[in-house]
Amino acid sequence: MAGIYLHIPFCNSKCIYCGFYSVVGREIREKFVPALRREISLRRNFFDTLPKEQQTIKTLYIGGGTPSVLPIATLSEIVALLRDNFSFPDGAFEFTIEVNPDDVTKEYAAGLKRLGVNRVSVGIQSFEDTHLRWMARRHNAEEAGEAFAILREEGFDNISADLIFGFPLLSMAQWESNLKKLTALSPEHISAYQLSIDENTPLERLASKGHFIPADEAACSLQYSMLQSLLKEAGYEQYEISNFAKRGFFSRHNSGYWERVPYLGLGPGAHSFIGKKREWNFNSVEDYCREDLFEIRQGETLTESDIYNETLMLGLRKSEGVAVEKLLKSCSSAPRFFEGSQEIFNRYLSAGFLIKEGERIKIPPEKYFVSDGIIRDLFV
Ligand code: SF4
Repeated sequence: MAGIYLHIPFCNSKCIYCGFYSVVGREIREKFVPALRREISLRRNFFDTLPKEQQTIKTLYIGGGTPSVLPIATLSEIVALLRDNFSFPDGAFEFTIEVNPDDVTKEYAAGLKRLGVNRVSVGIQSFEDTHLRWMARRHNAEEAGEAFAILREEGFDNISADLIFGFPLLSMAQWESNLKKLTALSPEHISAYQLSIDENTPLERLASKGHFIPADEAACSLQYSMLQSLLKEAGYEQYEISNFAKRGFFSRHNSGYWERVPYLGLGPGAHSFIGKKREWNFNSVEDYCREDLFEIRQGETLTESDIYNETLMLGLRKSEGVAVEKLLKSCSSAPRFFEGSQEIFNRYLSAGFLIKEGERIKIPPEKYFVSDGIIRDLFV
């Protein structure tokens, strides 16, 4: 199994909190497809070291940035390029695209359907217009509902929606209302993220001048608990710290990341992973589009401890936890690393911050909110 992530580095404007790489300028968009064609021709053999049966692309994820700023004709050209150069299955594979609600028209949704998209991820973030304006989102709450309805009318039966919590403007009552409005729409999948202050964002600049004070952790923790309980009541299974889904609708693409399945990341800022190698393209669409520049990425070979820590972290973020056997087989030093961490494992187990179920170690759901600290302590 293998996956492809394609990063579309364009947005029509920047949201206040966003740390993802994207540019607002439009002229450069014209040069993107030829540049992508060049990158694909350089990297079309990326999966060649895998056994033949594992080279088939099982998931394609077009994210960004805002993929939906591109016209359907451009997306269609891109999909044809990918199909010409990589091995896709004859039958269905998970094909996700991220959209912003303000880009979703009936024609656009129908175009996505024709392209073979079968999973749409909608950046809703909030159903309060005051929040959306503060975040500098381009859509309003009404447009989010409309986009959702259009996608349903056009036959999309696998929709994911994102919400943000943990910012000072958001009261508990508003968070409850956001969650209830979203579950009333009944998306198959929900991702919810606590607002963070990412580097080089307007929010970071506001915070550094004292114009933004983050919400206190106790309030964020209460919002996270409400998220867990309301979504559980509404029939969603929390399968990862930030991800919830109805039965059968876990994100296969993201599950691939968490299972350390090889993936190729195309486009500026995209990351790739195969074997012990991780690579990332530079965050510069201008350089990416230069015909004479082929040094568009750098990479690293993961050390034994990187591999062990990654297996541990990605496993413990999932509700099914990490299988001890998988952890022990993650690299040749893993048995020694695991042995050396027994004291801290046992301390967390006896304090109830970790649980052991059969051969799996998990973080119990009521401790997910502090999972980062637990996982960090277990790193070698
Ligand atoms: S959150 Fe999405 S739409 Fe907003 S700037 Fe980031 S990538 Fe663009």
